[in-house]
Amino acid sequence: MTAQVVDGRSIANEILLDLRGRVHTLHRKSVTPCLVFVTIGASPPAQMYVHRLERLAEPVGVRVRTCMLDDAVSVNELEHQISVLSADETVDGVLVQMPLPESLLNARLSTLIYPRKDVDGITVHNAGRLYLGQSGQLPSTAAAMMHILDHCDVRISGSHAVVVGRSNVVGHPIAELLLHRDATVTVAHRKTRKLAELTRQANILVVAAGEPALIQPDMVSEGVVILDAGINVTPAGLRGDVQFEGCSAKASVITPVPGGIGPVTNAVLLRGVVRSAEHRHV
Ligand code: ADP
Repeated sequence: MTAQVVDGRSIANEILLDLRGRVHTLHRKSVTPCLVFVTIGASPPAQMYVHRLERLAEPVGVRVRTCMLDDAVSVNELEHQISVLSADETVDGVLVQMPLPESLLNARLSTLIYPRKDVDGITVHNAGRLYLGQSGQLPSTAAAMMHILDHCDVRISGSHAVVVGRSNVVGHPIAELLLHRDATVTVAHRKTRKLAELTRQANILVVAAGEPALIQPDMVSEGVVILDAGINVTPAGLRGDVQFEGCSAKASVITPVPGGIGPVTNAVLLRGVVRSAEHRHV
């Protein structure tokens, strides 16, 4: 079988095109959707990410601002900044650079960001809504994966989905979303024994482990749908968690890295900002 290789950029463009119309309507009401990215210390990868988002957001009409905090910032100061952004009526999304340095791990981000502005679904409120199957702001990568599955007409109900990785930003939320769409979900993680035996049973295989080439061709079955959320910088360039060449020869659908889930995730993030702006005055 030769897999359908998901063109994440083209799917992202479709989402962005739809957003343009919605933002146009908001502009007419004098609302400019605004995302604020909170950075801590000088981080070149974070700066690159912000520039990429700005380039993407500009033609859509969404504003991206950076709130730069010193790396010596205290928990209190960070919490204060988040409260100020949460209360600012002109801000629609607040995104905090992750992972937080150890000194800030106790910051109460998961309760201080207003649920509407929690565009990466990190608050207790939105995590609870996700758990209960209620609509809310979702972690962008997980939402992007669901969008890709629907875009590719993948049957979710009744399928066996195996999710490798259980982080709060990717593995855990996608497992919940798949469960709410009636998949039978198995979640694997670092302590899982006999990973290959599980992954071979998957109709849908989601990999978010952060380990290049963790999934080898002998670990997947013919016809599997593979979503690779890994982003690993290797000497050979950017690579996912899936050994692409071998696995794509067996899969029915597969997301490449780069150019798969990543661009859709960014577009879905902006969609969250626009959705939040649409609810500004409600
Ligand atoms: P991400 O942000 O991509 O979700 P994290 O580093 O936060 O990545 O989490 C990685 C997840 O992947 C963890 O839940 C971990 O248990 C899982 N994981 C990492 N390596 C392996 C492995 N070799 N086999 C199975 N699961 C793994």
